[in-house]
Amino acid sequence: MKKTIEKVLAEGKALLKDAHIRTWALDGEILLSHVLSFSRVQLFTHSKDEISEEQEKVYKDLIYRRLKGTPTQYLTNEQEFMSLPFYVNNHVLIPRQDTEILVETALELIDRKKEFQVLDVCTGSGCIGISIAYYAPLSRVIGIDISEPALNVAEHNAKLNQVNDRVHFIKSNLFKGVPEDLKGTIDMIVSNPPYIPTDEIKGLMKEVSEYEPTIALDGGKDGLDFYRFIVKDGKEYLKSGGILLFEIGYNQGDEVAWLLKSHGFNSVEIKKDLAGLNRVVFGIKE
Ligand code: GLN
Repeated sequence: MKKTIEKVLAEGKALLKDAHIRTWALDGEILLSHVLSFSRVQLFTHSKDEISEEQEKVYKDLIYRRLKGTPTQYLTNEQEFMSLPFYVNNHVLIPRQDTEILVETALELIDRKKEFQVLDVCTGSGCIGISIAYYAPLSRVIGIDISEPALNVAEHNAKLNQVNDRVHFIKSNLFKGVPEDLKGTIDMIVSNPPYIPTDEIKGLMKEVSEYEPTIALDGGKDGLDFYRFIVKDGKEYLKSGGILLFEIGYNQGDEVAWLLKSHGFNSVEIKKDLAGLNRVVFGIKE
């Protein structure tokens, strides 16, 4: 028998709530709007409409996968970032709202009146480089990542946001595959690299540790491996006066700031996120 949207939604939410999913109401709505290709508001303006048994089955399947722990974004293949749509799958880290402060800082530092060359290292879904390209229309971005399936996602996202004429991707283990002739030409290197200490990955929320790619999380023994590589090798690619800008873990600010200073970067600054935690570090190559 067919049920109304209101009824099916209430059932889905109840299952999520009983399983103590913190975001049960939101997740229940996002998943049903995904199945019906509705906006969330339409769920309420059409609450008395009936849905087909097939649609109900698809919805319940998603609810059960959510109950087992799959993040909602991997079920819908969508996450908004910087008010832009991004496709995601389990080959990429889900873009975090916390990372928007990194992009906002980059946009403040970019000279928008001239062509500006940006390198996004460990680009993943491409969310950082693509948002920069979108909001700084004269910028050109190269995204690099070691993961081929992640780069496929990033390419798709560049097209989705119509910046694929100014955003290009290179498959590369850090700087190993980046052409030598780019040395000394880059205005800004931006990166949200993997920064969780290896031993701490297991202790993260199950949704993260079991579903998001370990390769996107694991920053080595103390979590700082990628910062060391990127500061040392990235410096060669920056112009004099070029900017190196990182997202960091809440307790990594002082160490990463020190790392930048010890490699001769000037005007090193740490910025906090909305929760008041250290989140971004940047410095200028002399
Ligand atoms: N740059 C991507 C992001 O910020 C991926 C980061 C990562 O894989 N560590 O979401």
